[in-house]
Amino acid sequence: MKNIAVIGAGTMGNGIAHTFAQYNYNVQLIDISEKSLTNALVSINKNLDRMVIKEKISSKEKERTLANITTYTSIKEGTQYASLVIEAATENLELKLKIFKELDDVCPDDTILATNTSSISITQIAEITSRPDKVIGMHFMNPVPVMKLVEIIRGYNTSNEVTKFIVDLTKKVNKIPVEVNDYPGFVANRILLPMINESIETLFNGVAGVTEIDTVMKLGMAHPMGPLQLADFIGLDVCLSILEVMYSGFKNPKYAPCPLLVNMVRAGKLGVKSGEGFYDYSKSKKAEKIAKQFE
Ligand code: NAD
Repeated sequence: MKNIAVIGAGTMGNGIAHTFAQYNYNVQLIDISEKSLTNALVSINKNLDRMVIKEKISSKEKERTLANITTYTSIKEGTQYASLVIEAATENLELKLKIFKELDDVCPDDTILATNTSSISITQIAEITSRPDKVIGMHFMNPVPVMKLVEIIRGYNTSNEVTKFIVDLTKKVNKIPVEVNDYPGFVANRILLPMINESIETLFNGVAGVTEIDTVMKLGMAHPMGPLQLADFIGLDVCLSILEVMYSGFKNPKYAPCPLLVNMVRAGKLGVKSGEGFYDYSKSKKAEKIAKQFE
């Protein structure tokens, strides 16, 4: 396998493209937005520079990595030589179904189709295609070039061969794959999101303030970041949408999103990306400083 197409050049797509390009795969990075593609190349360049400064890679490796990435605005053109497509477009069921239908139509029969979805059912996505045995979840963590874990999610019909292939490929790019089955929230978010939701509920009930809750979890549980700060980083809209998927998927009230979270999302307080969530990121650029500690 030499050619890997990545669909969506946002936060995750640019990190996935960077990672495979660094390990010498030819990456076709595809987005409907030219601006996203341009921003992605700027981010990848910046992240590679940081790696050069930290002596994790040489300048030559940086140049080679950049040269391995080609950008496209058309799925058909970008995927024609790909043996694997990793979809990392916006988290929206209708959009993903549309993309997978198109991929199934334009890609050769043996192309493996993976999705980086945080919460949408792999089985549901797979069933829109004529190759559900070749559809799989590859759930990378943010920031992709830094984080080791990839949750490998087997849809109901994903074959053993495809799963093994993707597990091996994940190891080749120096990541650690963990195989899980396709149920709402998979493993990472099924455990993480109830904790975040409970921390919002604790705030909502007036038990303690934002910094107090985060301090308890950082100093008491040795978490590198408090749950409310982490929610700001993930995006409060993303947290809400994952909880809604689990709430409707399990029909269990324990996953019901806290009304405060719902209200904040309605008010446009989405965390780091909107400049304000549980913390204010607008002036101090505090979030970016904290993010650097994790690189
Ligand atoms: P993002 O908003 O940063 O980027 C999404 C990109 O998809 C945008 O550039 C957009 O232009 C592009 N896009 C939209 N429709 C498209 C189409 N039809 N064809 C091609 N490109 C299209 O989103 P993100 O945070 O990178 O998330 C992408 C996926 O990764 C989602 O499924 C999300 O659930 C998942 N994910 C996100 C995180 C995270 O921390 N952000 C972590 C794990 C998984």
